[in-house]
Amino acid sequence: MTFKIKLIAGLAAAFSILLLVAELSYTSFVRNSEDRRWVTHTHAVLEKLDSLQIHLIDAETGQRGYIITGEETYLAPYQDAIVRIPRELRELRELTADNPVQQGSLDRLEPLIAEKLGVLENRIEIRRTEGLAAGVAAVAEGSGKQFMDQIRVLAAAMKQEEDRLLVLRSNELEASGRRTRMIMVIGEGLGFLFLAAAGFLIHQEMQRRASAEQEVRTLNRDLERRVAERTAELADRAKELERSNMELQQFAYVASHDLQEPLRTIASFTQLLAKRYSDKLDDKAREFINFAVDGSKRMQTLINDLLAYSRVGTQGNPFTATRCDAMLDRILKNLKVGIESSGAVITRDPLPVVIGDEGQLAQLFQNLLTNAMKFRGAGVPRIHISATAQGANWKFMVRDNGIGISPEHQDRIFVIFQRLHTKTQYPGTGIGLAISKKVVERHGGRIWIEPTPGGGSTFCFTVAEGATSDANEKENYELRTSTSAD
Ligand code: ADP
Repeated sequence: MTFKIKLIAGLAAAFSILLLVAELSYTSFVRNSEDRRWVTHTHAVLEKLDSLQIHLIDAETGQRGYIITGEETYLAPYQDAIVRIPRELRELRELTADNPVQQGSLDRLEPLIAEKLGVLENRIEIRRTEGLAAGVAAVAEGSGKQFMDQIRVLAAAMKQEEDRLLVLRSNELEASGRRTRMIMVIGEGLGFLFLAAAGFLIHQEMQRRASAEQEVRTLNRDLERRVAERTAELADRAKELERSNMELQQFAYVASHDLQEPLRTIASFTQLLAKRYSDKLDDKAREFINFAVDGSKRMQTLINDLLAYSRVGTQGNPFTATRCDAMLDRILKNLKVGIESSGAVITRDPLPVVIGDEGQLAQLFQNLLTNAMKFRGAGVPRIHISATAQGANWKFMVRDNGIGISPEHQDRIFVIFQRLHTKTQYPGTGIGLAISKKVVERHGGRIWIEPTPGGGSTFCFTVAEGATSDANEKENYELRTSTSAD
């Protein structure tokens, strides 16, 4: 279970428990208030019964005072009581409406009270009309006392019923109060427990994250250190590679340069031999000498090519702003004979100004154009030169309609001395594209072949706009451009 799910589950449980506790507490609280209301209600009934009896006694006392004294003022408590008693009886009936026992008692109590009040009224009337002696005699007759005793018994029974209810309801009130307290305590305890669990989970997760972050930081530092080490290692190797490359180029240059001399000697002496002793040599010997001369000439060509190849890296010119359009005009003039003899049609888009070694760039274009004419198909050679900007680079394309190059050879042909045809099919030494590749790389670009719809080949190469593979050259160029601007 993930941390998120655990946390959500914990909080949801705590929330549900709190909701349940709230609901139970509320119900219990409502029940408790209800119980309390019933207890109060019972007290009210008891009070009402007491007050009813007091008013009956008041009425009787007032009546006696009047009978003894004959003074109307003594009747005040009686008159007050006969107004209040019916009202209190009504209230008692309403208060005990839920209790059939009390209602039954009231059914019996009401006529008794009515009788009792009737007796009192009758005695007052006798005193008023027949005088003191008749009044006293009426009191002594004793029926009033009987009613009063019966009333007392009934009221006592009603009070007893209410006392029973009071005990019952007080017990319920106490129980519901206990229940409410218990629910609140257990609920709060559980809620606290779940919140503590959620807090513990959060604390644990924070610790886990802190240690994971620490681990990531350590790993990062380790990675940075290793990257730095590897970068330093690579820089060392690049330096070493550059140094050995330079040495190799130097070696190729020196070797090819130094080989030329003995080769020339061999060629010229072999030719001399053929010339001087031609009368002494038979046809076979002359043929052999011709082979030797041919071989040394071929070797001379190869050595010259090798020299040219090694010069690209060692003896290039500083970079200058080169107007490709003007440069191409000059190349086309150079290739005039070849163009006319092949009948080639060369077209071009406007070409940009690039920063580079003009001589090497001219050699590059010339190689590609010569090949496009050399490896022509059956029809008239059609060659198109174009250039497009690509971010900070220029992409050049030289497209022809010649014999084309199958995809599996498209990388191989840029390797020195690699050819796809024999010398008899197409003359050449297989150095042109290797030199072209080296020139492009010196200008910070790359060279490749793209598919050509309708047949033929499309050679593409890029030149970085401020191209230079050598920081010194760039410096030279910038120095020169700023001096000429002055
Ligand atoms: P070379 O022209 O002396 O043979 P390159 O290095 O210029 O040497 O070319 C290498 C090989 O690539 C060629 O022998 C040829 O097979 C193939 N090639 C070069 N350019 C073209 C082209 N435009 N069309 C077809 N094949 C080509």
